Parts: sequence; structure tokens; C-alpha cells
Amino acid sequence: MPIAIVLLSGGIDSTTALYWAMKQEFTILSITCKYPSRPAKELEAVRNIKQCAGVNCIEVELPFLRTAAEIMKENPSLLGNAKIPEGFIPARNTIFYSVATYFAEIYNASFIVAGHIETDSIGFPDATPRFFQLMEQLINETKLKRDNDSLNGIQLVMPFLHRTKQDVLKIGSTLGVPYELTWSCYYDGNEPCQRCVQCSERTDAFAKAGLKDPQLSNQPVKRMSGKES
Ligand SMILES: [Zn+2]
Repeated sequence: MPIAIVLLSGGIDSTTALYWAMKQEFTILSITCKYPSRPAKELEAVRNIKQCAGVNCIEVELPFLRTAAEIMKENPSLLGNAKIPEGFIPARNTIFYSVATYFAEIYNASFIVAGHIETDSIGFPDATPRFFQLMEQLINETKLKRDNDSLNGIQLVMPFLHRTKQDVLKIGSTLGVPYELTWSCYYDGNEPCQRCVQCSERTDAFAKAGLKDPQLSNQPVKRMSGKES
């Protein structure tokens, strides 16, 4: 079976991408990047999800990585006078996809799978379809050559790149994605804060998908099953 590296963050989109990849009958190796501003609850989510899904996950330490806001708080003279969106990390996806490529080379993977959705590119030039197209080109220009190489090289697979978060939830509900294990909130806590941008996008997506967020419910979760829509 072809090997797929799956970038897993513990949120709705990447967890759905993991379950989508499992459905494709790839051999899965997930990776997650650890950096200081990442909520501990996200990492806990990743560990619970990989256990539930029965896949391996490599935790990659990136201790130098800071958000633009953190960098400017420490030294306001850095980053010039760039207009920076909330939550921005300089060159984040260039770094993450370089890490994924490193493991794809080691394990001779055919695919790198991630859960980016259409709105991820708003204000984030490293999450646009063009960025991924250029990144894939770069990866394959520099890829190790092997006798049994497929003509397609390493492919970046983004099944939801032109979908909304509510679309992702609808697809995920048919794949049995354990959304109760995911974490979307920017902050740590026993419960999601329900006030940050991530929480409000999550609430909005569940409402638009006509689904109940199992993370907010004390009732046992009944999973749907069936074919992907
Ligand atoms: Zn929140």
C-alpha cells in the first residue's frame, strides 16, 4: 500500500483528512509539530486521535517557532511594519511541509495529506492553492531518485482545499471521525472558551452542517456510518 504522511493538528480539518486518508487504504504515518504557543489541549487531542485511529504519530519539536505577535511583543522592531493577520507564524507552512517532506523521503511516501480548507488562505499566503502547487513542484525537483519511483513523485493531497468547514463536518460524519476528541480553541482549558475565533468558527460550522458538536455534549455520541458523500 502507498505510504501517506498526514499532517495532524488535532482540529476538525486535519482529523477529517486523517480519516479520509485511512479510507483510501494508504499506510499512514501522521506527524504533528510542537511549538511553544500551541495549546497543550491540541497535543492531547492529537494523542487521543492517533490512538483512536490506530495510527503512528511522530511529534516534531520546533521550539524556535513563535507567532508574529509573540515575536513583536519581545522585540517590536522585528518584522518591519508588515501587516500581520491574527495567529500568523512566519513561513509556517513552508516549515511544516519541509518537515513532512523530510519524513516522506525517509519513509518513501507517495503522498503528503493535509486538511486545509478554502478559507485558510484568507490573509495567509502560505495556505493558497498556488502555495501548495509550488511546494509540490519544489519537493519533486529536489526529491531523491529511486529505481522504482512513480512518475507522480510525492503528491500533496488536500481533499478539502475547495470546501468549507461545514462540508468537512458532513464528510467526516460519514467517515466516523471522533470529533469529541478534537480541539479547536486557541486556548487551554477544561472546556473550549467559546469566545475565540476558532471556537466561533467551529460552532458556526456545526450549526450550518446541522450537526451537534459532541465536544459540548454530555450525551453519548452516536456516529453515523456509510459511504463518503
Ligand atoms: Zn476558544
